Amino acid sequence: MTAPRLRPALAAIPTYKAGKGPTRRDDGLVTYKVSSNENPYPPLPRVQQVITETAALVNRYPDPASQELVAAIADYCAVPGDHVAVATGAVALCYQFAHATAGPGDEVVFAWRSFEAYPILTAVSGATAVAVPLAEDLSHDLPAMAAAVTDRTRLVFVCSPNNPTGTVVSQQQLEEFLAAVPKDVLVILDEAYIEFNSDPNAAQGLSTYPDHPNLVVLRTFSKAYGLAGLRVGYAIAHPPVIEALNKTALPFGVSVIAQAAATASLADDVELLDRVRALKGQRRDLTDGLRAAGFEIPESQANFVWFGLGNRSSSFAQVCEEAGLAVRVFPGEGVRVTVGEPEANDRLIDIATVWEQEDPADESGLH
Ligand SMILES: *Cc1c(COP(=O)(O)O)cnc(C)c1O
Repeated sequence: MTAPRLRPALAAIPTYKAGKGPTRRDDGLVTYKVSSNENPYPPLPRVQQVITETAALVNRYPDPASQELVAAIADYCAVPGDHVAVATGAVALCYQFAHATAGPGDEVVFAWRSFEAYPILTAVSGATAVAVPLAEDLSHDLPAMAAAVTDRTRLVFVCSPNNPTGTVVSQQQLEEFLAAVPKDVLVILDEAYIEFNSDPNAAQGLSTYPDHPNLVVLRTFSKAYGLAGLRVGYAIAHPPVIEALNKTALPFGVSVIAQAAATASLADDVELLDRVRALKGQRRDLTDGLRAAGFEIPESQANFVWFGLGNRSSSFAQVCEEAGLAVRVFPGEGVRVTVGEPEANDRLIDIATVWEQEDPADESGLH
């Protein structure tokens, strides 16, 4: 049979590999999903109540402009309302940026390894991906990225803290980068994990974008705010960029429930930030415990840690899986583990300690 004719660009698109859940088991061991950087805490009771209440309204379309949510975000970030756009997750905004700026013949620059949606959405747009290797310390090599910008570059993604290595770009590095990149190239600062950052030198998109009409700050309710299942993300930028986002948006994308829950989360931010603080404490303990066990763990400013295990990655992920922890493996490169429930974090240290004793790194010095 003749298959439907699709755009040739689709053939080259890698499929998005979502973090897997733990394998079901019958030995009674409690299992944990620490593969998708989700927040282990359930939504706050007040937010759950709003979700239940708004369920009664879903016979109606949502407000297509998400006005209440946009106003709440503008208020929260202390920016004008016309500097805010929302969508079904920050990843939807990434796709919109690609639609709005790039097509066949254009280039999209990002660091690698970084967020795995970047190469996929670049390929969907038909543009060419320019992946610039991370520096030795697993942070963005911004001078190399600036050097990779050509007159075909339309879009640059800078992910800070970087998924999956947890490293940040410093404010000074960001400013030097912005000074080096042509003003007509859109730069996205993906701050999906910024609420978990404790590095005072880390780049701060909100205070930087006012002076840079080509800079966008990208954020999400999926990670620190614990609403991954509802799909809400937002962008902060100057009005021409926001208008481009609104033009490329899926109509009525953000649901009635998602708009209300995200708005309520911002109002309840103190309790949420307490949880973030607790997760940062757990990250500290986890990093210290893993380093004590002999692992080289980069300092993470996000809600996950990175093990650069090279060719031992898959075997480590397998051992974690057998012990009831579903982690995210990047075969041949490393393993990313989310800071999860305290029991999951403790178990990870135990697993890693035993594994390191039984199967230490070979002469190649990996990890
Ligand atoms: C999780 C993540 C996002 C977006 O998440 P959404 O759930 O689509 O809001 C964006 N960027 C990075 C780097 C992420 O890890």
